[in-house]
Amino acid sequence: MSKVNKVRTRFAPSPTGYLHIGGLRSALTNYLFAKKNDGDFILRLEDTDQGRLVKDSVKDIIDSLNWAGLKIDEGVVGVDEKGEIVERGEKGPYVQSKRLEIYQKYVDQLIEQGDAYHCFCSKERLDQMRKEQQKKGKAPMYDRKCCDLTDKEIQKKIEKGEKCVIRMKIPKGRVIEFKDMVRGKLRFESDLIDDQVLLKSDNFPTYHLAVVVDDCLMEISHIFRAEEWLPSTPKHIVLWEMLGWKDKLPKFGHLPQLLNLNGKKLSKRDGDVSVRDFCKKGYLPEAILNYIALLGWNPKTREEIFSLKDLEEQFDEKKLNKAGAKFDYKRLDWFSNYYIKQLDDKEYLKILKNQKFLENVKLDYEKASKIALIQKERISKLGDVFLEIEYLIYDLEKFEKDLLRWKKMTDEEISGNLEKAKTEIEKIDKKYFSSAKKNLDKITEILLEAAGENRGEFLWPLRVALSGQKKSVSPFECVWVLGKEESIRRIEAAVKKCS
Ligand code: GLU
Repeated sequence: MSKVNKVRTRFAPSPTGYLHIGGLRSALTNYLFAKKNDGDFILRLEDTDQGRLVKDSVKDIIDSLNWAGLKIDEGVVGVDEKGEIVERGEKGPYVQSKRLEIYQKYVDQLIEQGDAYHCFCSKERLDQMRKEQQKKGKAPMYDRKCCDLTDKEIQKKIEKGEKCVIRMKIPKGRVIEFKDMVRGKLRFESDLIDDQVLLKSDNFPTYHLAVVVDDCLMEISHIFRAEEWLPSTPKHIVLWEMLGWKDKLPKFGHLPQLLNLNGKKLSKRDGDVSVRDFCKKGYLPEAILNYIALLGWNPKTREEIFSLKDLEEQFDEKKLNKAGAKFDYKRLDWFSNYYIKQLDDKEYLKILKNQKFLENVKLDYEKASKIALIQKERISKLGDVFLEIEYLIYDLEKFEKDLLRWKKMTDEEISGNLEKAKTEIEKIDKKYFSSAKKNLDKITEILLEAAGENRGEFLWPLRVALSGQKKSVSPFECVWVLGKEESIRRIEAAVKKCS
């Protein structure tokens, strides 16, 4: 591919909050498209709405992309210790607030060409106008009151200190057509498009101007973005044309919204929505990526496990879904559990330790890691590693003696079998209680042998003695995690109940 045609995609979030899972999906789509086509993935910050900026959000966006493993080739690549943004690439700055002079130049060009005009209308007037339009059932649209002001009139108003914005003069009677990479051919009538504000009274550009100028100057070839931007695309296309860049127009693909299971827009009320929330709860990035990739894209095979590498190779924008994608937390948990099970034990413990999931409980590392190992198959997020397993951590709550009874066993039979179990456990070599998972197999083997034919009679009372629960992990797991002394102590207490 020649350099001119190089695929260049970008993710262009506004740092107005923590990275939303839907944002990560847009980023992923742009990233995958770039990788599939040997292209570059660029991160640009769209911070022109200065009132809505949120501190920490830039760092959060970058951290979240890093966590997910989406490598940024160009643009904003980090935040240093002093909190300064780090950029890489020749087409910067990649932060819109640092590009004001660039935008001004194009605004001047548009005014010069007659494609943009000064508008001095007050907020009150615009509100009133909109209200009246709504009353008549019309779509709100600027009435072009200021469109034909003469240079002299404009000059006078500016000298008087009147505030103004610059609006784009959308040509009338045109049809704007383009082929969306997700939705196919689309058609918009220019008569229904409002004269978009391009430059605000604070001299900051609006998103619409900045996005077009930057996508052109940064030589972006393909844009995947959320569906909410679809109504803006015809305005953008007209701007590309006005600026003389028609032949450089990128291809657009609008990604359907993420929905909750009721078909409404996914929101905080439904559960976690920011990438950092998922990370904090201990979802693996592999699981999140796999799940959100499949949310918007149908591989059209039965395969559903895709690593980032697989996705990079197999991504096909023609298979992107048009329909809104329902975000199912249960399904995500299935993927997450799958990926946790795939980790080898060492790696699994390392991640748990690094992310501090093994801390904050009354446990030493050895016992914590034993619990973690027996939970590995069950949990769907690392933060659940100690969930529903309190009986292995804290002293037992009192439990009813009857819980120890398997079928019609008498108290003597129960205590007899518990004594037998105790003797067996006393005999187990200390080394089998250390935290390598294979020791659990050994303990299981010993206790199964002791149980012989009478598994229910032997194992049920033992399990209840150790856990105090109607439902719990197996007695073998209890013995291994609790260790010799604590197991014996609990068995003795249970025997006492029966005497
Ligand atoms: N700054 C916009 C956003 O945060 C980007 C839209 C686009 O990709 O063009 O959604």
